[in-house]
Amino acid sequence: MSDFVKSLMADVTAKNEAQPEFHQAVEEVAGSVQVVLDRHPEYRSNKILERIIEPERVLMFRVPWVNDQGEVQINRGFRIEMNSAIGPYKGGLRFHPSVNLGILKFLAFEQVFKNALTTLPMGGGKGGSDFDPKGKSDQEVMRFCQSFMTELQRHIGPNTDVPAGDIGVGGREIGFLFGQYKRLRNEFTGVLTGKGLNWGGSLIRPEATGYGAVYFAAEMLKTRNDSLKGKTCLVSGSGNVAQYTTEKINELGGKVITLSDSGGYIFDPDGIDSKKLAWVMDLKNVRRGRMSEYTRQFKSATYTEVDRTMDHNPLWAHKADCAFPSATQNEVNGVDAKNLLAGGVFVISEGANMPTTQDGVDLFLDKGILYGPGKAANAGGVAVSGLEMSQNSLRMSWPREEVDGHLKRIMSDIHQNCVETAERFGMKGNYVAGANIAGFLKVADAMIDQGVV
Ligand code: NDP
Repeated sequence: MSDFVKSLMADVTAKNEAQPEFHQAVEEVAGSVQVVLDRHPEYRSNKILERIIEPERVLMFRVPWVNDQGEVQINRGFRIEMNSAIGPYKGGLRFHPSVNLGILKFLAFEQVFKNALTTLPMGGGKGGSDFDPKGKSDQEVMRFCQSFMTELQRHIGPNTDVPAGDIGVGGREIGFLFGQYKRLRNEFTGVLTGKGLNWGGSLIRPEATGYGAVYFAAEMLKTRNDSLKGKTCLVSGSGNVAQYTTEKINELGGKVITLSDSGGYIFDPDGIDSKKLAWVMDLKNVRRGRMSEYTRQFKSATYTEVDRTMDHNPLWAHKADCAFPSATQNEVNGVDAKNLLAGGVFVISEGANMPTTQDGVDLFLDKGILYGPGKAANAGGVAVSGLEMSQNSLRMSWPREEVDGHLKRIMSDIHQNCVETAERFGMKGNYVAGANIAGFLKVADAMIDQGVV
């Protein structure tokens, strides 16, 4: 680590106490872009990195609502408007009890670079609440969403800040949020993405993150004249990203043998084919059940409960060729990374944001496997959100094939950009450096053009 990055990190840690995920995300990017700062003194003199790590605006607000028993509940709402150098703030909303300022700042920071990579004009933002939709009735979720939007609507708009979904925020929540925005502002605009198809949503948006992560893996494999056909894959999570990752892997001839939720994971050596996946989608999206129920339905599988006393997650210790972490941050630690390599995994495409801890990332880079970091590999979701914004502005909706074609091209362009940028800066095959540097350059140049703002 250079002296500059060391002193930057000391400052970041002191100013942003108790935000370890944010420190982790900044340190990774700062490490990657050191070489760029050395070659371009104008980025140093304009204090681009120092400005990029400071959100343009942080909103934090009270979200009061009443549960089905008539009791008053209070949650905390957030929106981090991180960077608008290349377009309106854009990034998801996360509803999960673990949500806090540090987690959302890390996500907003990552989003800035990811959005720049998509080639679409989108700045970076992220938001959410410590509200837990699990176990709540639809009415409770609706009342919460309405209260959340009653404050958020003052700060967002189709040309200002366009939120979308993330963990705990799917089609149901986006519907309730959009309804309340429309009611308060008396306007029908593309203020949120991930909308329903018959009220402004885009085809392929629900599929986009998962499909995109698989397209990215396919692009990485292509560099070795290989493909996903016949590959055994580990997938974690069982939500939006995991479901469509599984669907696309099946379509391309691979076999998915694991899925998980916060309670544990299932191992199905026969593969989670389209029939089993349809059952999982119904379980998770309609019945809102737990993965533990899978083994009652499919006898070929075993279920392993999460054991927090273990230093690793046994899901990552199964023999496989590819891994798609698609649940949450830091779900793959250094021990898991070793286990993945020992089990034969040589392709990792991250559907989740920052799912691998730094020691795990270092190990993957050291071994020279095909490692696609989240900011590049999961950019398909926000890319199709960008396409949803375009369709809303044009008041048109494009057919499925057209949106999927755009998604495929964007993922291939992101892959190419990462490869070329890493090579240009002397780090051939390092997709982490490629993604961080390519995203940084686009935003940095826009910031210089726009002066000290
Ligand atoms: P969902 O809420 O649809 O699903 C999340 C899945 O991950 C669930 O299976 C959930 O289990 C599990 N999970 C969540 N938190 C934890 C935790 N702390 N420990 C263990 N398991 C956990 O979210 P998405 O699929 O949308 O998001 C998954 C990841 O992908 C996140 O990192 C998100 O930021 C990232 N991402 C999502 C995009 C999108 O378009 N949706 C775009 C880009 C990235 P349980 O059901 O038990 O909570």
